[in-house]
Amino acid sequence: MIDKIKALEKTSRLLDPLQKQRDQWNSQVLQYSNRFINELNTTKAFVNSNDNGKDIYDLDITEEATDLSILLNSISTNIDNVGLNPASSGHMGYIPGGGLYPSALGDYIAAVSNRYAGVFYAAPGAVRLENMLLRWMCRLMGYPETSIGNLTSGGSIANLVAIVTARESFDIKARDFDKLVIYLSGQAHHSIQKAIKIAGLSEAHLRYIPLDDALKLSVIDLEKAIIEDKKNGLIPFFINTSFGTTNSGAIDPLEPIANIAQKHNLWFHVDAAYGGFFKLVPEMKSKFKGIEKADSITLDPHKTLFLPFGTGTILIKSKEKALKAHHFLADYMQDAVHADEEVSPADVSPELTKHFRGLRLWLPLKLFGLKPFRASLEEKLLLTRYFYKEIKQLDAYELGPKPELSVAMFRYIPKSGDVNAFNKKLIEAIQNDGRLFLSSTTINDVFWIRVAVVIFRTHLEDIDLLLKIIKEKVDELSS
Ligand SMILES: *Cc1c(COP(=O)(O)O)cnc(C)c1O
Repeated sequence: MIDKIKALEKTSRLLDPLQKQRDQWNSQVLQYSNRFINELNTTKAFVNSNDNGKDIYDLDITEEATDLSILLNSISTNIDNVGLNPASSGHMGYIPGGGLYPSALGDYIAAVSNRYAGVFYAAPGAVRLENMLLRWMCRLMGYPETSIGNLTSGGSIANLVAIVTARESFDIKARDFDKLVIYLSGQAHHSIQKAIKIAGLSEAHLRYIPLDDALKLSVIDLEKAIIEDKKNGLIPFFINTSFGTTNSGAIDPLEPIANIAQKHNLWFHVDAAYGGFFKLVPEMKSKFKGIEKADSITLDPHKTLFLPFGTGTILIKSKEKALKAHHFLADYMQDAVHADEEVSPADVSPELTKHFRGLRLWLPLKLFGLKPFRASLEEKLLLTRYFYKEIKQLDAYELGPKPELSVAMFRYIPKSGDVNAFNKKLIEAIQNDGRLFLSSTTINDVFWIRVAVVIFRTHLEDIDLLLKIIKEKVDELSS
């Protein structure tokens, strides 16, 4: 048996490479990432190639090892040079983020040391760091020190945690699920509906409240609906609002909705996945009035704090309510009980073992300080206003609501023919060009092209290029 163990050990030790090997791999990866970043100003924001990365299948899992250079070549060809490039300054579709470099270093350290950041007892320093970041975000939103939160994988899971916390805090029983009413706008992010379903509440009534011209939820209609539903024996339960809708960046009127929620005893959730971090821009402060009254807030550092994908945030005002929904103790976790100086992430999340997400957020915030974040967010707001102003001056363009954040919507009105069809062709032409990437949406049967200025690398020259490309493509399609 000893011989067998020793033989296995020899092969098993391959999993723990010596420094020489590590240095070599590090240097290859560093070279790869440096080239990727240095070439960003010449690579496209969107590449629609014929095979779309199919050759990655050539590198399926095998018994024998493969050389890193072969793998990096394939990553470059089949992954990093096809589809959307969310690191590119030209990516102005959906709500991107960019991917700050120091986050990669944070991920690297977190992966090397593999701290168990789900439980305080196991990694007290890591949990303190994550909770410190959450307390910073609580302060930013005007929440009391007693509030808690969790670094999630993204905004969708954050919204799920909010809905489950609300469900548990109201002690709602299954027999009442079909009496529940959830209020939201037709502009709510679809992760809300998805979370409702995952939370087992698909029998609940979804009340879509009418919108005003600026695509914001109508407060009067909201209260009317709540009163009507109560009269009909239903249970008004949850209000979802958006601080920055994905489509147009609209901000629902938080303060009056907070008051309605309080008056009628409903859970008040603010989905600020896109817009929340604009609180860092002093001139935006007044728009946030009322957010501090929310029972829960979703933020997404991988959007407006420019992190690489993989970090969202849920903040919950009441610690007791968050724990009621998510805190469990198992026999095999008994050693973990005694130290509770800090709330453990596992007690505020469906996850137990998780990536130590704190480092990828903390490292860039500390290495840069807040100043460049504030500047970059304000720059994005101004770039969007600049785009809106410039395109408004051109003939035959119709614009969506005046941008409150960093999303603008426009469409071209051709002299003849179907307007929606023309704009579909226009966005296809922009996407096929690939230097820049925009996405589109349909609101009340109107096809709009969206410009979302979110990536930290996007600057004035990119917006000027955007205006030039739009004009170019319109001319081509019109002739
Ligand atoms: C992006 C977004 C979400 C979903 O967040 P993910 O991080 O993609 O899971 C939810 N709500 C809004 C308003 C968003 O913009």
